[in-house]
Amino acid sequence: MTSIPEIFGEYVFNESTMRSKLPKEVFKKLKKTIDYGEPLDPSIANDVAHAMKEWAVDKGATHYTHWFQPMTGITAEKHDSFISPTDNGKIIMEFSGKELTQGEPDASSFPSGGLRATFEARGYTAWDPTSPAFVKDGTLYIPTAFCSYTGEALDKKTPLLRSMDAISTQACRILKLFGKDVKRVTTTVGPEQEYFLVDKKYFDEREDLKLTGRTLFGAMAPKGQEMEDHYFGSIKPRVAEFMADLDQELWKFGLLAKTKHNEVSPAQHEIAPIFSTTNVSTDNNQLLMDVIKNVAQKHGMVCLLHEMPFDGVNGSGKHNNWSMSTDEGENLLSPGKDPAANAQFMLILTAIITALDRYAKLMRISVASAGNDHRLGANEAPPAIVSTFLGDTLGAIVDAIINDEEQTGSTSSKIKLGVSTLPVIPKDNTDRNRTSPFAFTGNRFEFRMPGSAQNIACVNFVLNTSVAKVFKDYADELEGAEDFHEALNALIKRELTAHQRIIFNGNGYDDEWVAEAEKRGLPNLKTTPEALATYDEFVDLFTEMNVLTKTELLARQDILQEEYHKLINIEAMTMIDMTKKDILPAVSAYMNELSTTAVNKKQIGVSTDIEVMLLNKLTALSVEAYSKLEALIVADSGRTEIEGNAAEAAYAAEKIVPAMEALRAVVDEMEVNTAGKYWPMPSYIDLLFGV
Ligand code: ADP
Ligand code: MG
Repeated sequence: MTSIPEIFGEYVFNESTMRSKLPKEVFKKLKKTIDYGEPLDPSIANDVAHAMKEWAVDKGATHYTHWFQPMTGITAEKHDSFISPTDNGKIIMEFSGKELTQGEPDASSFPSGGLRATFEARGYTAWDPTSPAFVKDGTLYIPTAFCSYTGEALDKKTPLLRSMDAISTQACRILKLFGKDVKRVTTTVGPEQEYFLVDKKYFDEREDLKLTGRTLFGAMAPKGQEMEDHYFGSIKPRVAEFMADLDQELWKFGLLAKTKHNEVSPAQHEIAPIFSTTNVSTDNNQLLMDVIKNVAQKHGMVCLLHEMPFDGVNGSGKHNNWSMSTDEGENLLSPGKDPAANAQFMLILTAIITALDRYAKLMRISVASAGNDHRLGANEAPPAIVSTFLGDTLGAIVDAIINDEEQTGSTSSKIKLGVSTLPVIPKDNTDRNRTSPFAFTGNRFEFRMPGSAQNIACVNFVLNTSVAKVFKDYADELEGAEDFHEALNALIKRELTAHQRIIFNGNGYDDEWVAEAEKRGLPNLKTTPEALATYDEFVDLFTEMNVLTKTELLARQDILQEEYHKLINIEAMTMIDMTKKDILPAVSAYMNELSTTAVNKKQIGVSTDIEVMLLNKLTALSVEAYSKLEALIVADSGRTEIEGNAAEAAYAAEKIVPAMEALRAVVDEMEVNTAGKYWPMPSYIDLLFGV
């Protein structure tokens, strides 16, 4: 029996390992960088590199890699061995401070949105000492940020790190108003990861799953999730074995895998780690997505991380639980017990509500992807409209502040923050609205719009930057106030009144909410191109907060638009291929059998009514499928006439996606009318119930 505490973090160069392997002085200096985001003292780099290499070689590493997160959203790595030749024809294992802190991958094949001219292929990677290095499959992985030679961010990680600095600076100013001298505030994140498992033998027979990660065709199985028997249901032995194996693997990498359960749809599951600092959580989640796929393969299954692998059942999200805490461990989203603590909490809450309303479009952009478009507004997912749920108690307090009303249970007649006592705000899990895209859950906010395949860096740098900016505005206003409490009360009342439209406690899955949100003037950006088209409205925000320059932001917008239309094009071409090569011939073969049967039956004088009816039906459907196929081919090739990624993305959403849906509808109808043995690929029954 393996001892979990013993294997936990076995492959991570974590704090306790560092403490034991590094000279005291070096450890102290490094710890300062890790805890307070201070620049690394270059004089210690060689010592750290040496200790790291010795430790890694001990764990079986022969290579090292600067691990980074380019704009593709996945991770990238290039492995270099530690070997270095000596004069006598032998080698030694070496690793220098320079190799640890900086790398120069040839980066010409990563999307840069025009940031890097092709002649300047190099980018460079810079060690992020705040996220621990680890050993995996014989290689030492060093988490890094990835920039162009002129210093522009080419990855998802750099803006995240910058946003963490921005929010820390501004949050410290806010805390100072309440008499607290705090050096660093970090944002914390616990991402709940949803995924599907399918049997590998079925996966291998689906061209769409292999090429696009989702089913582009497939009639719904007679049973889906309507019996509500899968959520938290007992875990099948094969899946349980996989989950146990997965936990062990994750623990070795120091990932705090904590909760696992079946999700709403058949074949859907969730794993949630215990939260940590945002950049560590981001790295860990990227690693988790990698490990989960590998472990599934070992168990003869394939893990689907796509947001909507199947039509007609739930999609997968990645709930981003988000909060902030000080270096002394105070969670800034924990409602306080005394009036002063309440006032601080209410100001921070007001800032988040304000940020959410002011930057609602940006929140939407941060979760925009072709995959997530299918999910938002579909089964059991919040629509593309951003709103927040506060719960009854907190909601009532906010109302009372806005309306200058008496607050029941309060000792004074009007709420005067910082002076009067508020009713205790409960930390309950029962008062939860599962349909809200951004719900307060007692001591954190749960952002439920992010998609399961997404890198959470983007969601979090957007959240951090938006809240940092509002903190900045508040601090500017309050620092100069003559009477702090007067100014505070006035500000909170004014801001909550101005932004209350973003608070919604009703059912977010209801159509009525869409109409109501429109009345409130809340944006509803349904597709990724619609959302991305508004990205450049936020240039000022990002430049002011030093998170993205204008060039960096425009590059990002361009990359995401390009990624979107390329993906839609791949999906369209896959559908065209499958229809021509597999689906139409299969239906034709079945019709041939029906015709032969009919001819034979006729010879012996038996009625051929049934064959004739089916033949007529399938012939009509085949003709219709063929015309939808041609329409899709025309729509898809039309994109070559469009100039620019923005226009091409918009075209894909408006013309290609509907043509794909039209073809799918007819093909799914053919599937239910064709004998199973003729259908050229595994069905939804195989995929959803085959494990
Ligand atoms: P549920 O499914 O009920 O929302 P889970 O237990 O699956 O809850 O996930 C909750 C997530 O929230 C966990 O990852 C947990 O560590 C995280 N979390 C708890 N407190 C905080 C916090 N202060 N900051 C960020 N995340 C948090
Ligand atoms: Mg959960």
